[in-house]
Amino acid sequence: MGTNYYWSKVLNTCPTCGNKDTIKIHIGKSSAGWKFLFNGDDYKSWNEWDSVLDSSGEITDEYGEVWTWDDLVLKIEDKCDGISSKDEAKVSGIDNSGDYWTDPLGYEFAKGEWC
Ligand SMILES: [Zn+2]
Repeated sequence: MGTNYYWSKVLNTCPTCGNKDTIKIHIGKSSAGWKFLFNGDDYKSWNEWDSVLDSSGEITDEYGEVWTWDDLVLKIEDKCDGISSKDEAKVSGIDNSGDYWTDPLGYEFAKGEWC
């Protein structure tokens, strides 16, 4: 049980009909008792996520609620003492492919289509 967060950004707006061409990327997941787990497919460290989330687009959770990056940062910091997904992955033997890592600031990442 947890909440997934997504980043969406309008790449192009059609000048004729106003249709928007958007991308939507999974930022990561917040689960009770666990550290925030970032999706590392596109952005592989806190600094990479911070620069995109701070500068453009919109953050929403899976229920459609809009978040500011500042508010999500507070939530993530709040969870820094939680259980480590990376450690759990190691214990259960699934951390043998480099799919889980910790960035230089200690934030946890996992690759792949999970949520
Ligand atoms: Zn159009």
